[in-house]
Amino acid sequence: MKTNFLSFFLYANADRKTYKDNHRAIANENILVLTPLCFFAGLVFLIFTVIYAIKQDIPRIILNSSYMVLTTGMFIFSRHLPKFSSHLSNVASYTSLSFVLIYGIILECVINREAVAVSYMVLLVGVPLLMVDVPWHIMVMTGGFTVVFVIFSYIFKGPGVNFEADMHNAIFFYILSCFVIPFLVRSKITGILRKIQLEADRDMDGLTQLFHRGAARRKIDEMLKAMPEKAALFMIDIDDFKGINDRYGHMLGDRIICDVAHCIKTTAPDKSVAARYGGDEFILFINDIKDDSEATDYATRLIESVRALNDDNSTNLLERNISISVGIAMYPHDSVMYENLMAKADEALYIAKRNGKNCYATL
Ligand code: GH3
Ligand code: MG
Repeated sequence: MKTNFLSFFLYANADRKTYKDNHRAIANENILVLTPLCFFAGLVFLIFTVIYAIKQDIPRIILNSSYMVLTTGMFIFSRHLPKFSSHLSNVASYTSLSFVLIYGIILECVINREAVAVSYMVLLVGVPLLMVDVPWHIMVMTGGFTVVFVIFSYIFKGPGVNFEADMHNAIFFYILSCFVIPFLVRSKITGILRKIQLEADRDMDGLTQLFHRGAARRKIDEMLKAMPEKAALFMIDIDDFKGINDRYGHMLGDRIICDVAHCIKTTAPDKSVAARYGGDEFILFINDIKDDSEATDYATRLIESVRALNDDNSTNLLERNISISVGIAMYPHDSVMYENLMAKADEALYIAKRNGKNCYATL
């Protein structure tokens, strides 16, 4: 019971690994909130600047116009964030959160010295709810700012009723926010995980956990739109697979399909797209290849790693003769369109099969 309560309070019932494994999706969710938030905050600060300019309230004009510039800058920056690392996105989210709390502190302690702070309390409870991260990280951050708020309130308002009310409210609203944060993070994390699962079910081949052909096409099309300098599309087919199925049954056939998929996954570089095209056929798209020999080197390595499966004693095959043939089409040399690249890679695969299999061919 105690550990359940603690894991809920500190991690919203997820674990450290969940946050680590899904940091990209979590960062994307934060950017999704950050961008419109900065835009609307910029608009609000613009309106405040105009209002205080009419009233000729210099301190508030300075505060609001500085924040208008800050949030507009943050808005422009956050629109480019997806291109950068997810760690930078998190830094941006925490920085924005800090800016908001600093605004509350300046407004309520330095400018509104004669009154009890209200805006800071609203910001303290409201703003962290827009963020997804490990709950205790958010709590440490808001806790730190709340201590600063109380110190500033003491310095600028001096001991008295206003300071005492500020301290009382800060403690109350901080505890309230600590109570609410895990509930919200839990529901957001559940939503993110569900979305990831749905995408995986939609995009992945159930047997090999590689993309299926539709998802691969979408991803390759996206990469082609970015016009890489040089890229290679590999069409890979297991040799004489019907015979393996006939001799050892479909169950072992399935296992060989998975083993070959594993070889493709481990040989391919990070930013490539590997997919099961259907049956015993696979495709691999490697983006930003330096030259043709890099593509043929990949093919050689792939063929060798599949041949190495025959030395694996755990498969219990009586006959050890698993191999693949590979057809290679080069972008932009062979074509710049997905369909044509596929047709060319298929043509090259046919040549590899005709050349005796267990080899690669280009056009
Ligand atoms: P080739 O060297 O010319 O490619 O000859 P092949 O025998 O491999 O011929 P082909 O690639 O046309 O055969 C594909 C076979 O793969 C046909 C089908 O029985 C088998 N197959 C397709 N899907 C699956 C599957 O999901 N599991 C298993 N075990 N076999 C499959
Ligand atoms: Mg085959």
